[in-house]
Amino acid sequence: MPIQSVMRQRLKRAVITGGLEVACLAERTGLMASARGMGAIFTLHHVRPKAPHAFDPNAHLEITPEFLDAAIEHLKEEGYQFVALADMPGRLAIARAGERFAAFTLDDGYRNNALHAQPVFTRHKVPFTVFVAPGLACKTHGIWWETLTELLRAAPHLEFDFGSGPVTMPLATPDLKQAAYSRFVRFIQSEVEEAVAIEKLDTVARAHDIDPLMITERLVMREPELKSLALNPLASIGGHTVSHRALARLSDEEARREMDQSAEQIAAIIGERPETFAYPYGDRAAVSPREHRLASDLGFRVAVTTEPGTLSARSFDTPTAIPRISLNGLYQKPKYVGALASGIPFKLMRR
Ligand SMILES: [Zn+2]
Repeated sequence: MPIQSVMRQRLKRAVITGGLEVACLAERTGLMASARGMGAIFTLHHVRPKAPHAFDPNAHLEITPEFLDAAIEHLKEEGYQFVALADMPGRLAIARAGERFAAFTLDDGYRNNALHAQPVFTRHKVPFTVFVAPGLACKTHGIWWETLTELLRAAPHLEFDFGSGPVTMPLATPDLKQAAYSRFVRFIQSEVEEAVAIEKLDTVARAHDIDPLMITERLVMREPELKSLALNPLASIGGHTVSHRALARLSDEEARREMDQSAEQIAAIIGERPETFAYPYGDRAAVSPREHRLASDLGFRVAVTTEPGTLSARSFDTPTAIPRISLNGLYQKPKYVGALASGIPFKLMRR
C-alpha cells in the first residue's frame, strides 16, 4: 500500500535520527573509540539555499551552503585533514596513528556546486571533486528524478502505463505524490532497459509541458562553466558515465563505453582525463565487481560507490570500490557529520 510506504519512510527517518543522536553521544563520551575509522569521503549533490516545497522527494540530496560551512568547521575542530579524493590512497598509506582525513565529492555537476559550494570550499581551502556526466552537461540527457518531481508537483493526477495497462494516479496531496514517486522509481529500476523507462516518463512529462532537457539546462553546469571550475586548484572533475544509468544493468560493452566515454568527453572539455570516477546511483543494484574491474582497466585511480562506510588502512586495497557517506539534507546538524565520519553509526546499525 502506498500510504504504508510513506509511513515506513517516516519511521525509518525517526530511527536514523535516533541512531545519529546515540552515535553523537558515543563519540563525545569516547565510548566506542575503537570503532573509529580513519575518516570519510562525503557525497553531496545539490548545495543551495533551501526553497520550501510541500512535495520534496529528493530533499535528502540537497544541503545548504551554511550547513556545508558548519560541517567543515566541525571537522576542522575535530582535527580532520582535508585531502583531494585522487590523493587519498597516497595520503592514507603514510598516515600516522590517530590521523583522520576527509574528502568531499559532489555528484552530477549541478551549477549550484560552483555557485554555492565552491566559495565555501575555497574559503576553507578544502579540495573537492565534482563528478560530471557529459550527457547532462551537454544537454543530451534528462535527469529523470528531477523531471519526475516537477511532473508530480504540477499535475493534479496522472495517467501512466507501467506495463499492465494505463492507471490513473491521484496526486491531490504530498503523500499521494510521494506514493506515485515511489512507484515510478520502482518502474525505472525494474524495467529491462532503464533508458526505455526514462523515455516513457519523458514523453508523459512533455505532454504536460515539462521539458526534461530544459530542466537539465537549468540545473547542470555546461562546458564553459566546467572549464572555469577546473581552473580552481582546489577543484577536480571526475567521470560519472555519459547517460547516468545503472552500470550493472548494462552489457559489458555498453558499461565500458559509458565509463570510458565520460572520461574522454571530460578530457575534451577540461584538457585532461579524470583520475576518479563515481558510479551512478552507486548502490549494490547499480555497481558490481565487473564495474570495479572496468574502472581499474580504464585507468581510474579511485572509483567511489554510495555504499556507506568510512576509511581504513585497508580501504584502498580495492581502490575502485570505495564507500562514501552521504551528507543527507534531512539531517543537517554539524554534530552528525562528526558522528558519521567516525563510522560509529554504521557499527551501531550492524549490531
Ligand atoms: Zn549521480
